[in-house]
Amino acid sequence: MPPDVYSPQWSVFWYTCHMKKIFLVVLIVMIAYVIFVLINNDSGTIESQLVVTADQQPKNEPIDIKNNHILKPPLDRASERVTNKEFGVFITPSTSPIQPERFQGYHTGTDFEIFPEEFNQDVSIIAICTGGLISKRTVSGYGGVAVQACKLNNEPIIVIYGHLKLSSIANINDELETGQVVGVLGADKSIETDGERKHLHLGMHKGSTINLLGYVGSEPELTSWIDPCLYVCYDS
Ligand SMILES: [Zn+2]
Repeated sequence: MPPDVYSPQWSVFWYTCHMKKIFLVVLIVMIAYVIFVLINNDSGTIESQLVVTADQQPKNEPIDIKNNHILKPPLDRASERVTNKEFGVFITPSTSPIQPERFQGYHTGTDFEIFPEEFNQDVSIIAICTGGLISKRTVSGYGGVAVQACKLNNEPIIVIYGHLKLSSIANINDELETGQVVGVLGADKSIETDGERKHLHLGMHKGSTINLLGYVGSEPELTSWIDPCLYVCYDS
């Protein structure tokens, strides 16, 4: 039975009854809040899992350009052929792996050697990218050279195929598809290679203005050149 409303016990009674209700309301609000947070966390986790599945790889992982194969090797067994002059190596007549040597500087391209059985065979060089053949001529230090204009990651690049037999090179302004024959290697130590051994010098540089330099005098000058082995030194 409730106490008389004017008695001192009334306020204690009132307080006890209402505090129970307030406590219940606060408890319900807290439980509702916890459920709300849990539901939101779950959907967030599912969403991020879906994003990872769709992208196939986390966003910050570096792109493996060697395995993307966006360009094609100019010859078969390309990686086995890079044994003498890699991109960027500093060459002098006294330290060069090729003797005798007449060049000096930082190598702007990659040299691909022939196998012994290819010495007397026609060795076809194929286009590493799709683009027009914009120049073919005899150049000192190269013999026959073919120059192709391509795009790499939507940026223009120039590709130089050095030491080719001039008469074998495709026609100027031909649109060469990746994998089409550019020409064949010039004969060993002949006018076709300007006296060099039978091999391919592959150069790649940024932009659309032809630069045929096979060597540059300083390392900073290499920045406008691209290391071909980042793209084409795999076995096709
Ligand atoms: Zn070279």
